Amino acid sequence: MGSDRWASRALALLDAERLAAAPTPVLRFDLPAGWGVELLLKDESAHPTGTLKHRSARALFRHAIASGQLTESGVAVEATGGTGALAQAHFARLLGVRHVVVVPGRHRRVTGFTPRFFTPPAGVHEEARRLAAELGGHHLDQQSNAARVVDWRGDDLAGELFAQVGEPDWVVVGAGTGATSASLGRHVRERGLRTGLAVVDPEHSAHFPGWVTGAPDYATGMPSRIEGIGRPAMGPGFLPGVADLVIPVPDAASVAGARLVRARTGLAVGGSTGTNLWGALHLVARLRERGGGRVVTLVCDAAERHLATYHDDGWARDKSLLPGAHAAVLEEFLAGGPWRWGGGTG
Ligand SMILES: *Cc1c(COP(=O)(O)O)cnc(C)c1O
Repeated sequence: MGSDRWASRALALLDAERLAAAPTPVLRFDLPAGWGVELLLKDESAHPTGTLKHRSARALFRHAIASGQLTESGVAVEATGGTGALAQAHFARLLGVRHVVVVPGRHRRVTGFTPRFFTPPAGVHEEARRLAAELGGHHLDQQSNAARVVDWRGDDLAGELFAQVGEPDWVVVGAGTGATSASLGRHVRERGLRTGLAVVDPEHSAHFPGWVTGAPDYATGMPSRIEGIGRPAMGPGFLPGVADLVIPVPDAASVAGARLVRARTGLAVGGSTGTNLWGALHLVARLRERGGGRVVTLVCDAAERHLATYHDDGWARDKSLLPGAHAAVLEEFLAGGPWRWGGGTG
């Protein structure tokens, strides 16, 4: 019984953190006058952790504590690092809960959270489950749980976004855990909005072929090169039924998009923001043909470390992701020309 007082205090702390935060800002991405099309970027890098994972990390802790799975003396365990682990570390500190992240390999430098290394081929998720059991902790498991636990009615991204931008023609997002797209899609359905949900998908991801073929267990088995989005297999969090459109985006186009967002906003955005911009402009081109409309997408994250990857030509050359040809497509389009990509949709 004693832990109930801790749980209600912890849940109140999480609520207070959410309520104290201002809505993340909406930036305008200028398009040529005369198109009648508006493109808006909701800047999720404005969270204290610099990433949209701030929302799902908070929701994962909230759900685990309310469910009695994570207690005052418990340990929160997650599989794999990245922005999800960094955002979780923020909430673990806020709550005074131990947090351990299972990371493959031994020699990588890891900052921002407590790593627990293991050696593949043991699966990272199996290792996280095993460790949680050993420590008497709880596996937060964002990949399985984030899309279930993020509020989609009013209290989180979906409610906030539609209150700010009304009823746009399209909302464009990527899918990693699927929490973002699932919450927006569910909200659109509940409210009966006429907004379309477009999911952008990087190379090697199972989401686009899975959505096209309707195979719920479609797998490519290949990792994505765009951090945060794209999965080697359709997972429980990606809901193909809420996506009106899935747009496959070349990785070099994501790089070109990320650089353009940085040039326009000054934010050192990650690759997934570039994927969003490419998909959003693909739909802007359609709306221009129709005489106008509004598209909303997200700045997913921003961080200095992205300057050494997506924004760096040496890195891009090594990965065969130099964005020249795709940057030219963007430049021609934004100068008032045609959208020369994707079978001439523009
Ligand atoms: C996780 C993530 C996404 C995708 O969001 P989900 O809600 O997990 O689908 C996009 N961009 C970045 C940088 C991410 O970390």
